[in-house]
Amino acid sequence: MSPKKDNKIKDNKIKDGPKKEGRKKDSKKKNKLDKKIEVKDSGSGLGLFAKKDLKKDAVIGRIKGKIVSDAKHDPRYVMELGNDMLLVPKAPFRFLNHSCRPNCELFDWDDETPDPETGVKGLYLGVIRKVKAGAELTIDYSWPADFAIPCQCGSKKCRGYIVAEEERHLIA
Ligand SMILES: [Zn+2]
Repeated sequence: MSPKKDNKIKDNKIKDGPKKEGRKKDSKKKNKLDKKIEVKDSGSGLGLFAKKDLKKDAVIGRIKGKIVSDAKHDPRYVMELGNDMLLVPKAPFRFLNHSCRPNCELFDWDDETPDPETGVKGLYLGVIRKVKAGAELTIDYSWPADFAIPCQCGSKKCRGYIVAEEERHLIA
């Protein structure tokens, strides 16, 4: 019944930090996602782009998708929810690309009650640096070294591979 502890996927860690506290919950019920972001060709497949300037600490929206507990999922296609649960994101968030210097991150709310069935909270995309209209939104995939592929994010601090910083040394 309980999910396997081995083969644990360490990608897409939910980030904790002071940045989260600066965020404000959107009181408006209406989903204005399509006013903030759009899916476009990024030059290497589809990507998620800002349709308007986005401030640091802005909350883009909740990431919807299928919640699964099978740790055998390819970490490249899932987001970690904690509690050994994973999220297989649906569009538009499934098109989020990686950068070694991302402008967004995944987070959850401290005061949100976990879902009684899955034991996990909602996962949200938040802005960590000012984003100009038209810029691509990115997160740090932090993949395990076993799944790393060459990175072409172009940032000055590019690790050379899409890989977690702490596993970078495992790649020759
Ligand atoms: Zn990179």
